[in-house]
Amino acid sequence: MLIVGAGISGLSCAKHLHDRGIPVCVIDQGYRIGGRCSTRRTYEGEVIADHGAPSFEAKDPEFEDAVSEWIASGICTQWDVDRYQWTDDSLKQENEPSRLYIGTPTMDAIAFHLASGIAVQSGTRVLGLRKKTDGNWCVETESRDGGRSEASCTHVVIATHPREAVRLIGDHSSFLTSTLEHVQTACVWVLMMRIKDPLEGLPVLVEVSEGGDGIIAKIIRDDHKPSRARDTDSSTLVIHACSDWSAANRDLDHDEAQRVLTEQTGLLLPEMLGYEIKDLRIDDVQVHRWGSAHPVEGLPQLCETDDDARIMLCGDAFGWKELALGVQSAWLSGRAAAAVLADGLG
Ligand SMILES: Cc1cc2nc3c(=O)[nH]c(=O)nc-3n(C[C@H](O)[C@H](O)[C@H](O)COP(=O)(O)OP(=O)(O)OC[C@H]3O[C@@H](n4cnc5c(N)ncnc54)[C@H](O)[C@@H]3O)c2cc1C
Repeated sequence: MLIVGAGISGLSCAKHLHDRGIPVCVIDQGYRIGGRCSTRRTYEGEVIADHGAPSFEAKDPEFEDAVSEWIASGICTQWDVDRYQWTDDSLKQENEPSRLYIGTPTMDAIAFHLASGIAVQSGTRVLGLRKKTDGNWCVETESRDGGRSEASCTHVVIATHPREAVRLIGDHSSFLTSTLEHVQTACVWVLMMRIKDPLEGLPVLVEVSEGGDGIIAKIIRDDHKPSRARDTDSSTLVIHACSDWSAANRDLDHDEAQRVLTEQTGLLLPEMLGYEIKDLRIDDVQVHRWGSAHPVEGLPQLCETDDDARIMLCGDAFGWKELALGVQSAWLSGRAAAAVLADGLG
């Protein structure tokens, strides 16, 4: 069994198959695993920030049980955070703190925990799938140094974002590609910024009311999350751009996106803080574009399979109920895919 994608859905599927004694191999093109639930680091491994999902919610009772286990294992913690809205040029605190969860010490801890004991090959892109005459799959891959190889397997689970899934399926299943046509995803530009200023008075999580010609949607004080090492003289911010602006500027050059978002943050911070920041010193700034950050319209089923083609699909676009529940949806979808596959094999 081969799984393409070591995000939460692919790893959830892998873990649940592994727990049922089914051998599984996971391939991911990323330098590190976790997909959209990962942490940007320097090449030396030093944490920069959680640049994908900053946190997640647990609404489903079975996912809540999984999260409780993660908390007991020390790779996750509850984060009851005071949420603020920036609206009409003022900060308004929501009545109740939001119950969120985060990976500890960083969001990618969850992926590493799920991957424990499983054969995961990162830094390897699946180029395509070819059906062999014996009915099995030949999976063509390319490593970061350009080396190509092939692997053989009976079933393929595609746990990538929908556009990539459609590319990989190609002509092998018109049923699956037409199913994915109904999924729509949103692009989000993310800025990571380390500032030599404690930014006293800036809340840990500020959501900027959408509308108008605003560019910034959310500011998260990444270094103020529980279990993070914090430098009292500096602040690490993760800034999510609005989905409208991100969509309109999808093809912007990275340097230009970084310049615009840095400038906008520099304008917004003094307004939020209510005082001028003299000589805002930026120690480090990086930008990342998530082409398919989250679904804006998904599919109600938890996963989808084409038994004849022996392809299974899972991911956060499945289990859709009005709004995206990101990490929870991905975990539930991967688990559902594993159950269907294990029952079919068993
Ligand atoms: C900016 C941002 C903010 C978010 N905020 C939240 C939030 O607050 N709460 C929440 O619950 N969720 C949030 N999410 C969503 C959450 O991160 C995702 O729902 C979840 O991580 C999706 O997991 P997945 O396994 O379905 O997909 P992914 O994490 O995208 O995993 C797919 C994997 O497939 C790999 N891949 C793709 N193509 C190939 C290929 N050809 N060969 C090999 N590997 C391949 C990728 O490298 C990736 O690792 C956010 C996401 C982003 C980007």
